[in-house]
Amino acid sequence: MKELAAAVAVAAFAVLAINGVNVMPYLLVSVIGLLLATRFELFGKIGSSSKYSSEKGTLSDISFDVVGGQDEAKEDLMEALHLLQSSRDIKLGIKPLGGILLQGPPGTGKTLMARAAANYTDSVFLAASGSEFVEMYAGVGAKRVRDLFSKARRLARRHGKDSALIFIDEMDVVGAKRGKVESHMEYDQTLNQLLVELDGIEDTSDVKIFVLAATNRADLLDEALLRPGRFDRIVDIGLPDLEGRLAILKIHCQGKPLAEDVDLTDIAHQTYGFSGAHLANLANEAAIQAMRRGDDCIKHNDFLESIDKVQLGGVREGLLSSAEKERVAIHEAGHALISELLFPGSVSTVTVVPRSRTLGFIRQKEDVAPVLPTKSYLEKQLCVLLAGGAAEELVLGEGSTGAANDYQRAVEISENIIAHGLSRLGIINIDRVDKQEFNTVSREIVQENREKTRAILASHRDALDRAAAILAERERISGEEFRQLMLCG
Ligand code: ADP
Ligand code: MG
Ligand code: ZN
Repeated sequence: MKELAAAVAVAAFAVLAINGVNVMPYLLVSVIGLLLATRFELFGKIGSSSKYSSEKGTLSDISFDVVGGQDEAKEDLMEALHLLQSSRDIKLGIKPLGGILLQGPPGTGKTLMARAAANYTDSVFLAASGSEFVEMYAGVGAKRVRDLFSKARRLARRHGKDSALIFIDEMDVVGAKRGKVESHMEYDQTLNQLLVELDGIEDTSDVKIFVLAATNRADLLDEALLRPGRFDRIVDIGLPDLEGRLAILKIHCQGKPLAEDVDLTDIAHQTYGFSGAHLANLANEAAIQAMRRGDDCIKHNDFLESIDKVQLGGVREGLLSSAEKERVAIHEAGHALISELLFPGSVSTVTVVPRSRTLGFIRQKEDVAPVLPTKSYLEKQLCVLLAGGAAEELVLGEGSTGAANDYQRAVEISENIIAHGLSRLGIINIDRVDKQEFNTVSREIVQENREKTRAILASHRDALDRAAAILAERERISGEEFRQLMLCG
């Protein structure tokens, strides 16, 4: 192919030269072009061979015991692995199952579970990531997929195992709905090759291959991937619940010296929304915090402070003037007060320590959130969101840009109310509703709740001022302390 192109180029130059055109510029450009092309190809080769010659295959020593919580997902996965194993052992003309897709948010332990699965099935473990398959040059991705599968077989034989487990992370990068990503035929070739390999899994008799893939969202994947014989088993992995968080915390605190006062159940309560990766990070941060204090064991408070650090980023000292600090305290006190009045007992923490991701924060307890939100629940949460800016206006006479994110989320909630047929528009087809009308109703909902919030704050002005003052001074108060403050008015 390349030779042909070169020949054509030479011929073209000959013609141009004969006709008396100055060919030097063309010559230069094409020489540079040729050089670039070969260099890039070289890089391509170096890149791919180095990625794959480095032994990525290993024997996994991770068991399902180090995966905390996720009991259902673990059970689903183990059952799927059993099915895979037996459907490949028994030749009854059954079309064996294809691969297993692990679906869930980042940091929930998908990679961890894939390693555990390799150990569980006594297979060699090979990992690749979807993004590694995607290259500028056609065919490279497809070749890598082929190489990966043949390498898996080789590696299994070398280690005397009769199975190999291939884990493909970021599956959505290669497996996105075809045709969606224009000008990227490369994705299609890679995906096609993967389908070919999946279809051919049953033919290799000596080494069984298990394919596990991970994605944050299975709904983005091409349907062809999810057909029988391909990724026909989806294991959902969600954010851990209270019990799950406690289990994960215990795993990551193993071997760490904990002080008497540490209450991991309380920490689990306070870490609603955290992934396993967040919790692993939290245990580590708490230990670092203790070390900084010069202590040889980790205290409860080290955990508490690390919760904020993991979720909201590191502290930014001296960022705000004292007047600004006061404003942030008023803002957060507003959120907390409305949260506590509309959902008694809901506040878990209030802080006004400026961090890289926020200036202040209130954390609500997880049991506040219903599985099936009602209209009144949505409106109350809307009020909680509007309360920060409303408190600033009430106390300081004007708002600030600090409430922009709250307002955005408030608008989203109002749109949700409309979309679910809970507004004065009644049950609607969201695609056909008049845009202007939609906006008007959304604004009405926000406005109504804004008035309501303002009125409630005004009638609890004492409590608001008291909470803001103490918050500005102490920077972080617990929900219990906040509730005490509200009472002593
Ligand atoms: P994912 O692949 O879903 O993004 P990982 O498996 O890479 O998540 O998780 C990253 C790290 O977070 C793990 O190495 C582990 O330390 C921790 N982790 C995540 N989920 C769990 C869990 N369920 N149990 C214990 N540790 C976990
Ligand atoms: Mg991962
Ligand atoms: Zn706010």
